[in-house]
Amino acid sequence: MKVITTREALRAELATWHGRSIGFVPTMGFLHDGHLSLFRRCAADNDVSVASIFVNPKQFGPNEDLDRYPRNPEGDTAAAEAAGIDILWMPPDGSVYAPGHATTVHVDGITRGLCGDSRPVFFDGIATVVTKLFNIVQPTRTYFGEKDWQQLAMVRRMAHDLDMPVEVIGMPIVREPDGLAMSSRNAYLRPDARQDALALSRALVAARRAWVAGERDVDALIAILRAPLEAAERVVIDYVEVVDPETIAYLRGTRLDTDAPALAAIAVDLQGTRLIDNARLDLPSPLEAVHP
Ligand code: AMP
Repeated sequence: MKVITTREALRAELATWHGRSIGFVPTMGFLHDGHLSLFRRCAADNDVSVASIFVNPKQFGPNEDLDRYPRNPEGDTAAAEAAGIDILWMPPDGSVYAPGHATTVHVDGITRGLCGDSRPVFFDGIATVVTKLFNIVQPTRTYFGEKDWQQLAMVRRMAHDLDMPVEVIGMPIVREPDGLAMSSRNAYLRPDARQDALALSRALVAARRAWVAGERDVDALIAILRAPLEAAERVVIDYVEVVDPETIAYLRGTRLDTDAPALAAIAVDLQGTRLIDNARLDLPSPLEAVHP
């Protein structure tokens, strides 16, 4: 595996792969098995696999955790290599946006609601950095996790709308054995908060079971989602919604058609740590085996 820090060196390296398929996984590092599942799939699908590690300041609001976002460059390098990545691009902080950078990529619609409401600069920051990274890497395929469902939907929309010549591939959520979705931010959780964090996956299973039992009233499903979260002492709910998985349109106040696609989405604050999770209600989930 080659570790590259400058875009010039990256471009020169990628030029040697001209005409071959390039897979690309953008990340913010502090890698866990969720990231590594994307890396492995990327390595399996493509002639050359590229991963980036860049903590993108543009997607953090002023009161968020940019300054304390966890980092582990040595561990990440070893993990990326073991997962089959050929080129690890680690641009130093401050090197991605040139002085005077004045361009923002904004995707409308899909970025309203859910995390877009709670984090005003978040999706513009992601759309802008992902566009830059795509332009530098020029990937054939790119891999994003369903853990960040709204982000994945936005990247798909953006790539389609702007005719970006890349195939966007969504990958299932990788979880801890007890159901907690893997996240770099889980490192912030103290043991009591870690226990409370299980309320998210429990809520998703409860809603899925109600859906399987025939519940199609979205407000009733949202109430079922909220109950375990409200029972967890340290959890402060940011949002609990059921949305259209493609458009992210809110479905509250409606009844679902029998087999209509529906995504339950949750964000909470747990003692200063933001956690998100989601699950399709209309599809089986491995979580059902975790919380019997
Ligand atoms: P991040 O480093 O948090 O920006 O995440 C980089 C990529 O990894 C994004 O596409 C995420 O959706 C994906 N990812 C993060 N956590 C998980 C997980 N638990 N399972 C699957 N993909 C994940």
